[in-house]
Amino acid sequence: APHGLYESRFYSHRNDIYNESRLTLMADLREALHLNQPELHYQPKVSLTTGRVEGVEALIRWHHPERGWVAPAEFVPLAEKTGVIKHLTRWVIDQALNDLKSLHTIDPALTVSVNVSARDLVSTELKGLFETRMKRYQLHPDQIIVELTETAAMDDPDKGLEALEALAQIGLKISIDDFGAGYSSLSYLKKLPASEIKLDRALLQDIHTSENARMIVETAISMGHGLGFQVVAEGVETEQAAGLLRSLGADLLQGYWVCRPRTLRELEAWLVEGKPGMRIISPRLTGAP
Ligand code: C2E
Ligand code: MG
Ligand code: MG
Ligand code: MG
Repeated sequence: APHGLYESRFYSHRNDIYNESRLTLMADLREALHLNQPELHYQPKVSLTTGRVEGVEALIRWHHPERGWVAPAEFVPLAEKTGVIKHLTRWVIDQALNDLKSLHTIDPALTVSVNVSARDLVSTELKGLFETRMKRYQLHPDQIIVELTETAAMDDPDKGLEALEALAQIGLKISIDDFGAGYSSLSYLKKLPASEIKLDRALLQDIHTSENARMIVETAISMGHGLGFQVVAEGVETEQAAGLLRSLGADLLQGYWVCRPRTLRELEAWLVEGKPGMRIISPRLTGAP
């Protein structure tokens, strides 16, 4: 298995070579978080009906002094396995809520989405953390979206669900990230107190060439709507894909076609000067595949 429970539970000697370097990487990450060295970049999420930027997703970026840029796909799973995720998530929440406060001077209706690991639900005191930071930055819970990945990797699904319900209870919005990739389970989905699902980029890959792929996406969107979720298409890179997804009923769009993840300052400039909505509602964006 490339990731998930396997690697953490079954020790393999073949991993010896990596382990020392991985542990060093995690020690470095803890140190970097302590020194406030990582950064958050932000990617806008845009309404496919109005063209409005509804919010931004916070994505962590880390430049390691010797290794250069390390991708979150590399260090986040490792942080989940080693418990460092707790420190990472704390740092992300604090930074993202602080940055949202600053973005509100441009658009007070913007939301921020933070990625939270399934493991955080059992090991991090998320509710208290959000409450403290919301108070500090004077933010309202419906301005904050908690994106949850890998629900199937929850060691204790009951406890995870309980923690998630506590977050929903205080008014935070819950989003199911990477829907349609990996192990997302439908039986679990119906229990989650979520208001949004994000269709994984992998799910959207062949929608132009394969009728089956299109059918699956259309079904996922109508199922999402049936369950009362807003449906976000993520990783949308072309106008053609955006048009097709709109015709299939997706509500919101995220992807390079709209905007790549940017630093806070760059995003602020984009919000002010980019007139991003014009593109989405432009007559050029048709539903034709
Ligand atoms: P995700 O939450 O599903 O985030 C979407 C990923 O797709 C991001 O990669 C984003 O940069 C990338 N992306 C956005 N639009 C496009 C597009 O049009 N085309 C392509 N090819 N990619 C696009 P990134 O930033 O490398 O993050 C990868 C994953 O790492 C995230 O997936 C998330 O699961 C995790 N991650 C990132 N930041 C954090 C964080 O602060 N905390 C936690 N727990 N996980 C994080
Ligand atoms: Mg996400
Ligand atoms: Mg995702
Ligand atoms: Mg993800």
